[in-house]
Amino acid sequence: MPKTESAAWLQRDAAAVWHPFTQHSRWLDDEPTVVERAEGPWLYDIDGNRYLDGVSSLWVTTFGHGEPAINDAIREQLARLDHATFLGATHRPGIELAEELLSTAPTGGERALGKVFFAGDGSSAVEAALKMAYQYSVQTGRARPLFVRLAEAYHGDTLGSVSVGGIGLFHATYKPLLLKTVEAPSPAVFDRRTTDPATAAAEAAAGLESLMAEHGDEVCAIIVEPMVQAAAGILTYDASYLTAARALADRHGALLICDEVAVGVGRTGRMWASEHAGIVPDLLIAAKGLTAGYLPLSAVLATDEVYNAFLGAPAEARTFFHGHTYTANPLCAAAALANLRLMRERELVKRADELGVLLGERLAALTRHEAVTGIRRLGVMAAVDVADKGERAGVAVCKAAKRRGVWLRPLGNSVVLMPPLALRPEETDLLVGALDEAIAEVY
Ligand code: PLP
Repeated sequence: MPKTESAAWLQRDAAAVWHPFTQHSRWLDDEPTVVERAEGPWLYDIDGNRYLDGVSSLWVTTFGHGEPAINDAIREQLARLDHATFLGATHRPGIELAEELLSTAPTGGERALGKVFFAGDGSSAVEAALKMAYQYSVQTGRARPLFVRLAEAYHGDTLGSVSVGGIGLFHATYKPLLLKTVEAPSPAVFDRRTTDPATAAAEAAAGLESLMAEHGDEVCAIIVEPMVQAAAGILTYDASYLTAARALADRHGALLICDEVAVGVGRTGRMWASEHAGIVPDLLIAAKGLTAGYLPLSAVLATDEVYNAFLGAPAEARTFFHGHTYTANPLCAAAALANLRLMRERELVKRADELGVLLGERLAALTRHEAVTGIRRLGVMAAVDVADKGERAGVAVCKAAKRRGVWLRPLGNSVVLMPPLALRPEETDLLVGALDEAIAEVY
């Protein structure tokens, strides 16, 4: 196809579409891609060029695009039931998915995740979890209107989820509209802080402890991204912080919410990132990889203790008054169910752990570039920091990688690598090889 194909579509796009998190005065400068089809880890544009999907189409792909077993599951579901409300009705894929999810949930100690509430995407699940936590406090004694959030956190872009985020660029504008929060220090090592991960985690835990000593009575929940603050630049941190946060939440009668939107469903080499610390949260949020990257669906897993606080006679109004039209859409649920079953059958979490080790080995070679100022990784999520080079060095590196057939996205001056969990070794070489050449070209 002639190159003019994508140019024409981009003109139509610019005339009609408003894209997320996008400054439209520069939209066409960054050479957006008109994606036409995809297969496995490959994306094809409308001009016939192919790109290795190095960010799993925004961190969602598990097996890759077009996995036949998942395609079939969606088709079979479509032939039976496209949609039905989850109000006063239920359906098999919704029930089976809840059972399957609970069977994977982190365990340990007396706390057990026993119920699943469905939502549409990461932000809407966070929103549901925040409301649940506040209502739980109201219905178990006393309204606690305060949330503890972490510096550098990202939990989504709806008003509740923005309230508990800590990335200035995304959150500052909306401050007058937000929930009541207090900010705890980030446990991650970043900005070239020299301290080691265990020390950074201990310092942040001490900060959280003094915050809870001051405000604990008012706090209904502490919300964290377990092990990795993803959108801030794949800021990994030590598991000891989660153990401390779990203990502090317990000591002060607050809930612990683990937002596993980015890190869950095998991404860190464990089914759930909370497993790295052996903790069980009161509320666990899953999204992104849940449907293998096919359809929008998310879930809040809640302990029976939380769930039971919502039981009562209708007149008591203890009901969780929350839910959206497409809650637990059967097609989405069928995709997620097929994904989770296939992950179990094909031992994808173990394979992701192994892929992560390989990715780490390959990335280590990039330290030969002076421009590489840091590399962080956990499982199959990694970031390579590149030195400042005027404006938008990360963008320049990603453009150079794209010219080499590899699709990456920057977060500031960090280049994020989050390929599908089923990426093959030769594809991993291609991924890192292209980044290596791209860095050499730009610096
Ligand atoms: N929570 C975390 C940890 C995320 O990384 C994201 C998105 O990247 C969200 C929540 C929001 O999810 P969504 O974009 O599906 O609303």
